[in-house]
Amino acid sequence: MLDALFFRRWLTATAAAVDREAERLTELDSPIGDADHGSNLQRGFRAVAAVLEKEAPDTPGAVLTLAGRQLISTVGGASGPLYGTLLRRTGKDLGDAPGVDSARFAEALRTGIDAVAALGGAAPGDKTMLDALVPGVDALDGPSGSFGAAREAALHGALATTPLQARKGRASYLGERSIGHQDPGATSSVLLFEALAETAEDGSGGPREGSRG
Ligand code: ADP
Ligand code: MG
Repeated sequence: MLDALFFRRWLTATAAAVDREAERLTELDSPIGDADHGSNLQRGFRAVAAVLEKEAPDTPGAVLTLAGRQLISTVGGASGPLYGTLLRRTGKDLGDAPGVDSARFAEALRTGIDAVAALGGAAPGDKTMLDALVPGVDALDGPSGSFGAAREAALHGALATTPLQARKGRASYLGERSIGHQDPGATSSVLLFEALAETAEDGSGGPREGSRG
């Protein structure tokens, strides 16, 4: 069962991964964007980690909706409202259940990803974060799904954005010149799945277990 503590640990691990990779994300956003993706997400996820620490929400749904709202209010770029919507809608779908299994989580995550597609008007193949998010959730869903498989699928999806021409977001202004560069948002989406797999592998017996309600 995945409880509120699991989701807080997941987003805290994501914040640490974003801190580690911020420079690379901004570098990827230089040739096909405005070189701010790493700093956007760093600001956003630092704020997420801080608010989760302060408020320690006690259901998975409350953790995700609080995190999503925080991203929307702290990140100016396109990725803030998009990732914010992802977390908020996933959280809303989970409702106030005290714990969820991974199949239920996969279902809610799919709802969140659908909301990202609706908000940004993008589909897989448009060279956006959806090119990692959709294969990631596909690999999580279903009887043989796992967090490890989701991480691999998301990474594969992000790498496969390189030869694509961007059809959404800032990179689409470049037309054919967007070809040959890996999409920064798809790359940051891999970090979410990496942190998820890490958190699941850590089990529930981490040193922070039981340190708060
Ligand atoms: P901005 O483009 O406003 O500078 P960021 O640099 O933080 O914002 O994020 C850029 C990333 O956001 C892109 O690499 C892409 O993955 C994602 N993105 C941009 N527009 C869309 C969209 N309409 N739908 C889905 N993802 C998008
Ligand atoms: Mg940018």
